[in-house]
Amino acid sequence: MAKWRIGDVTVTKVVELEVTGGSRFLLPQATPDAIKPIAWLRPHFADESGRLRMSIHTFLVETPDRRIVVDTCLGNDKENRNIPHWNKMQTRFLADIAEAGFPRETIDTVLCTHLHVDHVGWNTMKSGDTWVPTFPNARYLMGRTEYEHWRIVDGRPDMAFILADSVTPIVEAGLAELVETDHRLCPEISLIPTVGHTPGHVSVRIVSRGEEALITGDFMHHPCQIAHPEWSTNADSDRDRGIQTRLEMFERLAGTPTLVIGTHFAGATAGRIVRDGDTYRLDVP
Ligand SMILES: [Zn+2]
Repeated sequence: MAKWRIGDVTVTKVVELEVTGGSRFLLPQATPDAIKPIAWLRPHFADESGRLRMSIHTFLVETPDRRIVVDTCLGNDKENRNIPHWNKMQTRFLADIAEAGFPRETIDTVLCTHLHVDHVGWNTMKSGDTWVPTFPNARYLMGRTEYEHWRIVDGRPDMAFILADSVTPIVEAGLAELVETDHRLCPEISLIPTVGHTPGHVSVRIVSRGEEALITGDFMHHPCQIAHPEWSTNADSDRDRGIQTRLEMFERLAGTPTLVIGTHFAGATAGRIVRDGDTYRLDVP
């Protein structure tokens, strides 16, 4: 279990699912032949044959007075998911976060960087025939723009299922709080808008005692996009805006001590962005 300290704040990663390969649909430009020349991706982010390593994990963020879950993965018992093995999952996720020191009742804040399937799943858990909040003592923060967008969207039956089992029960329980894309949660933690992947997508900025980190969310899915900011995923709402966001973020982060903690980065998961010729790479400590 990876853990980072940023001043008075700790960030702990708990993995729900890790995969190698099978990312052709998600990132079609990241073919094995295109990945192999990017040597720094190995061993954490790609294997010797150029297949991508990826991870679905949550981050447990502890400040002097808050206990925050950033993104809640896929969840157990969910159905009607597009990817077959994401249905009726039975993982040890709740036991794993408890073992990491974060039993679900102790969480005071849940933050979803956006409302895609792999970021809201554990918002709820199955109790009999209904979905109940997994974190009963938490306020669940969701972007207002994000929520309004998906609430009215037509033609995405998959999103209708996701909202119905993982978002609406939170709203109905009175635990949802819709926030702006630059919301500040507490002195150390604030949101920054990183739109493109979804219309209201945010990343999470952590600042404490002169140290700084950024939890990416999905403005990039894999470190290969640091070398190739122009590579988009098929899950992006607005590809051009997504590319622009990556270029702006890499420009802003490159050469700084900000620790970049990737929401789907496998292995070491975190590093610092540095310039690399006309592009960038992730420098893993
Ligand atoms: Zn995701």
